[in-house]
Amino acid sequence: MSNIIVNPKYEPPGIKGEGFFATKLSDVIGLARKNSLWPLPFATSCCGIEFMATMASTYDLARYGSERMSFSPRQADMLMVMGTISKKLGPVLRQVYEQMAEPKWVLCMGACASSGGIFDTYSVLQGIDRIIPVDVYIPGCPPRPEQVLDGVLKIQELAQNESFRRRDLPEYKKLQMDYGI
Ligand code: SF4
Repeated sequence: MSNIIVNPKYEPPGIKGEGFFATKLSDVIGLARKNSLWPLPFATSCCGIEFMATMASTYDLARYGSERMSFSPRQADMLMVMGTISKKLGPVLRQVYEQMAEPKWVLCMGACASSGGIFDTYSVLQGIDRIIPVDVYIPGCPPRPEQVLDGVLKIQELAQNESFRRRDLPEYKKLQMDYGI
């Protein structure tokens, strides 16, 4: 049997001795969720190209356990919205969000998805938070892959530290109700 050395920095708090480690179930679940986020890339324009760079070998999102992209909402827990979202596309985005199972997190990448960006026009949604709740925003036009990685790390922090019954929290229920979800 090989000796697995775990950097103590990554261990959840607990009690350990020779051959055993005891901790809370919620900490183990948090650790697992943090390191296995499955992204659903909802990319409509140029920010999506930066996402492709983030997935490629130089930046390599796989290092954080998120290389398995899902194009089915039911097998994804991190919705990454990148690019200009037209008002016509809004209901589709919302349907995708609603089809994702709990727990789920939303990463909003770039000026267009966050605020409409330079497209202050009648046809463009002026920020996806008008139709779905957002957990983390990444500024920029386009953001660099390092910023995307930073955004994913922030979602990881949420996934690790939030209650593992996130959907039962009163604040979360209220947030969903405010959006009519
Ligand atoms: S924020 Fe900039 S780079 Fe991203 S989709 Fe909009 S125009 Fe393109």
